[in-house]
Amino acid sequence: MRAQPQASHFIAGAWHEDCDGALIESRFPATGEVIAQVHAATPAVIDRALDTAHAAQADWAGLPPVERGRILHRAAEILRARNRDLSVLETLDTGKPLQETLVADAASGADALEYFAGFAATVTGQTIPLGRDMAYTMREPLGVCAGIGAWNYPIQIACWKAAPALAFGNAMVFKPSELTPLSALALAEILSEAGLPAGVFNVVQGRGEVGAALASDPRVAKVSLTGSVPTGRKVYGAAGAALKAVTMELGGKSPLIIFDDADLDDAVGAAMLANFYSSGQICSNGTRVFVQHAAKDAFLEKLAARTSKITLGDPLEEATQMGPLVSAPQLERVLSYIAQGVEQGARLVCGGTQVGAAGCFVQPTVFADVTDSMTIAREEIFGPVMAVLDFEGEAEVIARANATDYGLAAGVFTRDITRAHRVIAQLQAGTCWINAYNLTPVEMPFGGVKASGVGRENGHAALEHYTRVKSVYLGLGPVDAPY
Ligand code: NDP
Repeated sequence: MRAQPQASHFIAGAWHEDCDGALIESRFPATGEVIAQVHAATPAVIDRALDTAHAAQADWAGLPPVERGRILHRAAEILRARNRDLSVLETLDTGKPLQETLVADAASGADALEYFAGFAATVTGQTIPLGRDMAYTMREPLGVCAGIGAWNYPIQIACWKAAPALAFGNAMVFKPSELTPLSALALAEILSEAGLPAGVFNVVQGRGEVGAALASDPRVAKVSLTGSVPTGRKVYGAAGAALKAVTMELGGKSPLIIFDDADLDDAVGAAMLANFYSSGQICSNGTRVFVQHAAKDAFLEKLAARTSKITLGDPLEEATQMGPLVSAPQLERVLSYIAQGVEQGARLVCGGTQVGAAGCFVQPTVFADVTDSMTIAREEIFGPVMAVLDFEGEAEVIARANATDYGLAAGVFTRDITRAHRVIAQLQAGTCWINAYNLTPVEMPFGGVKASGVGRENGHAALEHYTRVKSVYLGLGPVDAPY
């Protein structure tokens, strides 16, 4: 199986190669087979990408917004027309099952391009009456934005960053994760085919140091990172030192609270989606599942029955519901968390072991009787490991849910809608669901509070993060100077 791109980078509307950069191998996580090789960007490649983005940005911003939108719309159509090929590519690169990538990856990227394509031409300023004089405001693009992506939703992350950035007149240099270098290149090629002027969207490969070079370069006005909290601290620090704008979409350890009046079948389904979709490699996952005491036994019984039926296997088979983890180090990390769960006294309800010798497969795993102090209840695992915790009262569960440095997401299941709103209002999280979990339509802003992030992606909120306001005072009379 090969998924070799034409070259490592896409710069100035064309494929670009420089074999001096370190070799990066992309592997199919189900077998470990190498599917593509790319080279990390050398300083010369980074320079070229930033220069070309810088040179292209002003003309792009000068186009009527409706024309920018038309190009993004065309790109969305191409993405949809090639959804199957892009989904296979994403499955090969990430190991996520085709059943998921067919509906969740390029498709959600196309949603973002469509949404921001339409948004572009609606952006306006204000006029501010000041008596004899007046003022007005304009929304300006920031300039060149650096996008740095994680490996769990590579094309979606690239689109969630590129679509608003480009719609509002910015240019972008995007660096995908070294583990999943391929689909961002496919996106760059599609944008170019849709008519995007050369240099407006560029992709460079590389490890952290390439991201770091982008984050600190004076040609970059804004840095948007999707990644872990430790990386977020470094990138935010580098960008902050140069007073650049940032969006930080970071990790989480989100609570999913299930009251005993909830529809238990729905709650179980949501808890499974919140822990097992994409083999649990989702930042907003509800990995601390708090179940009210009276519902605990029934919840666990239904959960164990449904979890034991999950089909794990070849992610390229459409019937497969769960694929491998993204890499061997990630597998080791997840297995070590499972071992800590057992050592610290959590009750293993199902799963818990690696599957097969080849590939990075681990069983969907549920721990019950988890306490707040256990490592599996405190640290982001990024694997299919659900921790079920008991609770009795509303105030108690809110306090425990908030007792974390993270604040990305939260969910509540109850039939009492008053309680649902009351509880959600007190949870320290940026993205919340009531009687649902992990649905992230592009219309809804997405992002975290506390250590989980800064800024928002998607929705109208994205305008704030990819434009700045210019205020213009218009003097309409003589200048009243006291000199
Ligand atoms: P990492 O933080 O390891 O990496 C994220 C990206 O940053 C990668 O492209 C990485 O490059 C790059 N990078 C690493 N070090 C630096 C640096 N010093 N300066 C600039 N860039 C750097 O995250 P993962 O890729 O492992 O992704 C998993 C994490 O992402 C989880 O914590 C998850 O919660 C979070 N995430 C958050 C989301 C959100 O929207 N809130 C969504 C998805 C994931 P390389 O990989 O090549 O080393």
